[in-house]
Amino acid sequence: MTMVRHSKVEYEDAFVKIAGLLGGEEYVRVARALLNNEHATDEEIASATGLKINTVRKTLYHLFGRSLIGGVRVRDLKRGWFVYRWRAQRDQTDSFIDTQKKKTLRRLQERLIYEETHEFYHCGTPDCKRKTFEESIDLFFKCDDCDKILDRVDNSELKKALEWKINEIIDEIENANEKGESMDQL
Ligand SMILES: [Zn+2]
Repeated sequence: MTMVRHSKVEYEDAFVKIAGLLGGEEYVRVARALLNNEHATDEEIASATGLKINTVRKTLYHLFGRSLIGGVRVRDLKRGWFVYRWRAQRDQTDSFIDTQKKKTLRRLQERLIYEETHEFYHCGTPDCKRKTFEESIDLFFKCDDCDKILDRVDNSELKKALEWKINEIIDEIENANEKGESMDQL
């Protein structure tokens, strides 16, 4: 029982955290309001957060567009028109994080391949950019910013750091999948 409660709290934090990453403080307030009041309408969220209704709606549509919340269209019995009731889709929080991690992983892998398949040259001036072999040939191995000679750069430390980060993310994705599988079995 204690464990179930504990994991629920972590989930809520992840949902609010993602909202914050997407849009900052206003998104955090909307996310917290959604967790405090499941099936809230945009008007209820606006009064709970003190945010303008248009800001709330914009935030909700953005979160909805990323499948982080779901909306149900219901008739407002007092007024007779239709309103949407919104709910945090906590099961989507994990898959959102998973997708973000996979994107980061792909970006890092592409970077590693780029580092592995290119030679780099640098003049030694900290503010000047690194150049590829092809660029350096065009420049006759002379920096176009500071005129110093371009020397071969050892990028093995950078490659090691990229490999380390890539393995770390792969582990995180695998661990999250294992956790998801064991939760399905329960
Ligand atoms: Zn230079």
